[in-house]
Amino acid sequence: MSGNLIDGKQVAARLRNDVAVAVKSLAVTPTLAVVLVGDDPASHVYVRNKIKFTRETGMNSVEQRLPADTSEDAVVETVRALNADPDVDGILVQLPLPDHINSNRVIAEIDPDKDVDGLTEVSAGRLLLGKSGLRPCTPTGCVILAKETLGDLTGKHCVVIGRSILVGKPTALLFLEQNCTVTIAHSRTENLSIVCRGADILIPAVGRPNMVKADWIKAGACVIDVGINRIEDASRKSGTRLVGDVDFAEAEPVAGAITPVPGGVGPMTIACLLRNTVLAACARRGLAVPD
Ligand code: NDP
Repeated sequence: MSGNLIDGKQVAARLRNDVAVAVKSLAVTPTLAVVLVGDDPASHVYVRNKIKFTRETGMNSVEQRLPADTSEDAVVETVRALNADPDVDGILVQLPLPDHINSNRVIAEIDPDKDVDGLTEVSAGRLLLGKSGLRPCTPTGCVILAKETLGDLTGKHCVVIGRSILVGKPTALLFLEQNCTVTIAHSRTENLSIVCRGADILIPAVGRPNMVKADWIKAGACVIDVGINRIEDASRKSGTRLVGDVDFAEAEPVAGAITPVPGGVGPMTIACLLRNTVLAACARRGLAVPD
């Protein structure tokens, strides 16, 4: 932390370094396979970064780049082939998939023991039941940042805004696992600002730029902003910039600790993906997880 800023970049770099040390100590080199369908520019950037960091941490990266008009059956076959490949430890299907492909069907095909994004029904069930398994990356990143900031989270009131399968729900469950008292808020929540003001840990995961204002935040609260929104900004060469769901300029003086966007939760997501690949490799191959 510098001041009250939670430096996600720094924490993520440390986590990636821990992963690299763990990889070196393993008898085998874990392999992460990434499936990318189509030409979505943002997806290409995400995948490029994932591949770069996979290699930097000493792991193997396998890429399956498929054209935008690939049929759903062909994508399913690709996933099945990766499931059957004994050298592949983790499978990531980059979302969103093109409109003609049912993402749920494709995700459901991923072997849960290789589900490094933690998105399959089996992974979700394991999380709900408190069984060991691969946990979703962005929610795990939020927990790590909160623990980094506050230490033991027991008894803290955590308010998650958002109830998506990808972020909101698993985030709530992971903070429950940390013995927090958890409230899940969403678009139908009444008196949202008052609900948020009760939070020791506030986690907006909505996708609405600058929604959370200073008077939504309890003085001294830890604010972990999951939202990533691109807004217009004539002062930038690109004409746009990224902001979170929190009105950072307003919130920063009130919060005890706060993540910036970018540079907060985002870098943690990839670091947790790499960590999951090591966990998957160890579990599949019967190896002890390095410290
Ligand atoms: P979804 O659109 O799937 O979910 C958004 C949630 O926000 C829904 O549960 C919705 O409620 C709730 N919501 C919408 N409007 C309001 C409102 N006015 N007040 C309260 N709640 C509201 O988005 P995701 O969960 O996939 O992503 C959320 C954000 O996180 C996005 O900005 C996304 O870009 C970002 N993200 C960031 C990642 C990272 O690495 N940092 C990774 C993944 C996502 P309801 O269910 O009632 O409709």
